[in-house]
Amino acid sequence: MNLESALSYSHTLLKPIIQAGDTVIDATVGNGHDTIFLAGLVGHSGQVLGFDVQQVALDETALQLQLTGQAHQVQLIHDGHQNLDHYLAPDQQISAAIFNLGYLPGSDKTIITHAQTTLSALDCCLSHLRRGGIVALVVYYGHEGGEAEKTAVLNEVQQLDQHEFQVLQYGFINQVHQPPFLIAVQRR
Ligand code: SAM
Repeated sequence: MNLESALSYSHTLLKPIIQAGDTVIDATVGNGHDTIFLAGLVGHSGQVLGFDVQQVALDETALQLQLTGQAHQVQLIHDGHQNLDHYLAPDQQISAAIFNLGYLPGSDKTIITHAQTTLSALDCCLSHLRRGGIVALVVYYGHEGGEAEKTAVLNEVQQLDQHEFQVLQYGFINQVHQPPFLIAVQRR
């Protein structure tokens, strides 16, 4: 058995948490790999809210969802995840959220996630997270601007009250080229 990559381990953690019928968030849709994974877990009775600022990413994901018969349970939203609160009722609970920080591979590398908007979206996800639910952030930081976002996110999650949240960091520490790492925040 090989140790899992940060991305793969984010799915391993989320899988047992998400039940059919749940509402979950994909904060960075991109090519839609996480969106499709989440759609499979919530099923037709559940709901995935997927955000991206690039319409082209949402269009490609919409196509994949149609091909896999999962379009019904996914709402693709062309808006920044910092506006997530506009799409959730005040008392609506989510069981999970996933973020892939950085830029979309094979696309415009100048369109990246930023600390301020990421933290605002993270805060919103945590305020809606049900007990036992998990927010997973896969942090890619090898690009320009990535280091600042990484530092800001780590500072934020390290300060979460341990009585309210458990915070895990997972990643390889002997690899070259700043490999991504995972942060998982679980509400107790
Ligand atoms: N999870 C994706 C996948 O499976 O392919 C990869 C996501 S990629 C690393 C990061 C994505 O975040 C890009 O598609 C980018 O357009 C998007 N993004 C950047 N800023 C954003 C924001 N404020 N709100 C939502 N998405 C944003």
